[in-house]
Amino acid sequence: MDRTADAVIIGGGIMGASVGHFLARRGFGRVVLLEKRSLAAVSTGHSAANVRCSYSNPVTVALALRAFEMFEHDRDELGGPTGFRRTGQVILFGDAHVEIGRQVLESERAHDTGTREIGVDEIRELAPQFDLEGVVMGTYQARSGYADPVLTTRTLVEEAKDRQLVAYEGVGARGIRTESGRVAGVETDDGEIATHVVVNAAGPWGGRIGNSAGVTSSVQWSRESDLILRLPENFGTFPIVADPACHIYFRPQGDGSLLAGLDYPKPVEPLNIDDYDPNLDAATRGKIEDGLHRRAPALRDAEFERGWASIYTITDDWHPLVGSEPDVEGLYSCYGGSGHGFKLGPPIGESLAQIIAGEKPGIDLHPLRPTRFAEGEPFTSPWGAGNRG
Ligand SMILES: Cc1cc2nc3c(=O)[nH]c(=O)nc-3n(C[C@H](O)[C@H](O)[C@H](O)COP(=O)(O)OP(=O)(O)OC[C@H]3O[C@@H](n4cnc5c(N)ncnc54)[C@H](O)[C@@H]3O)c2cc1C
Repeated sequence: MDRTADAVIIGGGIMGASVGHFLARRGFGRVVLLEKRSLAAVSTGHSAANVRCSYSNPVTVALALRAFEMFEHDRDELGGPTGFRRTGQVILFGDAHVEIGRQVLESERAHDTGTREIGVDEIRELAPQFDLEGVVMGTYQARSGYADPVLTTRTLVEEAKDRQLVAYEGVGARGIRTESGRVAGVETDDGEIATHVVVNAAGPWGGRIGNSAGVTSSVQWSRESDLILRLPENFGTFPIVADPACHIYFRPQGDGSLLAGLDYPKPVEPLNIDDYDPNLDAATRGKIEDGLHRRAPALRDAEFERGWASIYTITDDWHPLVGSEPDVEGLYSCYGGSGHGFKLGPPIGESLAQIIAGEKPGIDLHPLRPTRFAEGEPFTSPWGAGNRG
């Protein structure tokens, strides 16, 4: 175990792996990543890992567009394979949500995301197996797709190992030690590491790690589940689908399977992050399958493969806390990605690493600063509070 480091990153999900990767690319020196379980063991490894851009605020749009570039060119941009597959994404709108759909589309147009409105006939061409009753319009984004979240995280870490990133799996951080308002070290399960730079990427435990340095934040946690079904023969191809009327999202999973979960508008389901059941419960499975059967009746013949439950870490405006903590020199927060954090991880990691290295970031992360709530500048969205951002 290292006893000194130029930076210590706490947490080996997509956020921690991304910041570590990009610090290493900048030649920041010895960067130690601590992961108390194994890389991608918590939210990241259980993510649907959709890489899409249907956002309504400039910083998230800029990050999501950068994410497209990174995943499309993963070997150059992220150091290796991510399993990215481009599928396109459709959002289906009925009367209840069409107004919101048009507002989001308008703000997306302003940012040139490539999303466009499509009619029911075009949706039918993209997915002839769907029952489109009640659908009045859709939006389509051709660049969307999905990646393998565990492979992505491991690639980011592995590729940076010969640039002085070292990852310790199975070693937890117990807290951050400060001296005179400045980071001095990290207490770990295996002794202390002296450092002047700490990145708190502890995901659900980010608030607790921040507290150890005297920083407070407001987050809540929601139980979030996905399931995988084996598709019936000849089901055909389809894009990622977000379906507010049926309260679900779904997408292809490899060849011949489908991944699905509950989507907007979904209530927060509080959970105990230290003691939760990681299995898919029967009620949630029933709700997801009901939505799927409504939208694609042929899925009644699909075979259940597996399901799971994991955690969304949700801030007061559903956007992550990213940036320096003004009361503790050398401490950077990077957690609270709720349901967007996988795709945003690599571009956030890139720009945060630039900030830590004293460079001008490619994307200005100021709107995501942890102090935005106290300064009265939280994010808002046409979707209202919730995961659609
Ligand atoms: C079911 C589900 C579906 C999702 N679908 C999508 C999607 O389609 N697209 C998308 O963009 N996002 C999606 N998300 C959200 C996304 O997965 C998360 O926002 C993202 O993975 C969070 O990454 P993280 O690195 O902040 O947290 P995590 O992945 O939870 O990583 C934090 C890590 O820190 C470690 N840790 C905690 N405390 C310590 C400590 N004291 N010492 C050392 N290590 C510590 C933990 O063990 C953990 O591995 C989904 C999430 C879920 C649960």
